Amino acid sequence: MTKSALYFSLTLSVWCTLALAQTQQPTPRQNSFAAMPQMSDEQRENFPQSLLDQLAAIKTAALADDYAYRQVAHLTENIGPRPSGSPQARAAVDYVADELRQLGLDVQLEEVQVPHWVRGAESAELVEYAGQVPGASQKIVLTALGNSTATPAEAITADVVVVNNFDELKALGRDKVAGKIVLFNELFDKQKSAAGFAFVAYGEAVRYRGAGPTAAADLGAVAALVRSVGDADFRLPHTGFSVPAGIPAGAVTAEDADLIAHLSAEGRVRMRLTLTPQKLPDATGYNVIADLKGSEHPEQVVVVSGHLDSWDLGTGAIDDAAGVAVAMEAAEIFEKLHLRPRRTLRVIAWIDEETGGAGSKTYANHHAAEFSSHVAAIESDAGAAHPLGFEIKMSPHAAELLRPAADALASVGATVVEVSPFSPGADITAMAEAGVPALGIKQDGRTYFHYHHTAADTLDKIIPAELRENAAAVAVMAYALANMKNPLPR
Ligand SMILES: [Zn+2]
Repeated sequence: MTKSALYFSLTLSVWCTLALAQTQQPTPRQNSFAAMPQMSDEQRENFPQSLLDQLAAIKTAALADDYAYRQVAHLTENIGPRPSGSPQARAAVDYVADELRQLGLDVQLEEVQVPHWVRGAESAELVEYAGQVPGASQKIVLTALGNSTATPAEAITADVVVVNNFDELKALGRDKVAGKIVLFNELFDKQKSAAGFAFVAYGEAVRYRGAGPTAAADLGAVAALVRSVGDADFRLPHTGFSVPAGIPAGAVTAEDADLIAHLSAEGRVRMRLTLTPQKLPDATGYNVIADLKGSEHPEQVVVVSGHLDSWDLGTGAIDDAAGVAVAMEAAEIFEKLHLRPRRTLRVIAWIDEETGGAGSKTYANHHAAEFSSHVAAIESDAGAAHPLGFEIKMSPHAAELLRPAADALASVGATVVEVSPFSPGADITAMAEAGVPALGIKQDGRTYFHYHHTAADTLDKIIPAELRENAAAVAVMAYALANMKNPLPR
């Protein structure tokens, strides 16, 4: 997931029925719902016992299914990094389309014009600094940000000016910025992250990756660097989207940002910087759109989705092969259990989430007239760690109606339902803003930003049991939305 302040969310209701279930008296009914809070008449009307039994069966099947893991393994290890415009992105589209066809879904490829930016050489060293030993330099570990322009192949050398935020940059003014390399040294709040607010910390820090290079360029900087937006200390640079600024733009590791800041406090720091990415002509990409047609209301659609493109440094396992895989598994589980949803299940593998969102914008352009019959949209784009529940954008009444579906995930622990004023997924933003009830699976994010957009986003970061829990949560919720008696109120 990228660029967003989507995650400042407001908790309206949290249902934690597991503890309750454990403390109540056993009842004679051999039914895991017996210990749940009483449903309202409206909830009971929407979730008859037959549906609750199906949700329980889906959960059980998903917790014993390795389909999603096999998809992630193929996407990451056999296909590899999948940046927009790359041959791997195209191969991933064909692979996912074939897999979904094999499940019996009606598959379409939706053509999307996507940007095509490719990484080049990237290196940097400090060539002048306080206490420098003659003949020595300090290597700086960095990577280019998406949309960075190139330095000359023979590098640029310039003084570095360090700022902690936009106000400090503004205070320096053009006189002290023009001709220099600006480093934005905004700290990622690791304590917030460790305490369960990783996406809040990300939202705060990522502003500098997104808008820092433009702000620096406006004052005549020759290049812009940001402290990597991540919360681990592995000296790994984190790439990501940056608004095109017309200057070279990169992310240095947290350790190197500290080094430069410390040396700058002691005196002049000069850097030699080489970044040679290229912006190629736009390419053709595809959203994969696959329908399992509803038996009663085929025109009513429940979207389950993740994004198929990834950054190029790692193999895009947690971001976001996992999201695509759990969406695919929802269809696989329904087929395996011979459960035909009443409404259409639409699996979407989005293209170009990372480099501008052309896939979701194209879908919105083509399908806006049908959003009134899109009854809900789910996206998984926050990793593959243990699911806590769902972040949702919908009316409080709609959220309350969903409670039996969340309760069906009590044994997984995924019972949190957090109402947010923002779209819970980047690719479902247009739907969420058009009033389509929108859900994002909410994972334990405490390690997500260790690896996010780095070379370490690889298959080993996926814990199979936790991926199965995510698949269960998405499949249960999707089936509930597709089969509850009435569509959720808008
Ligand atoms: Zn993502």
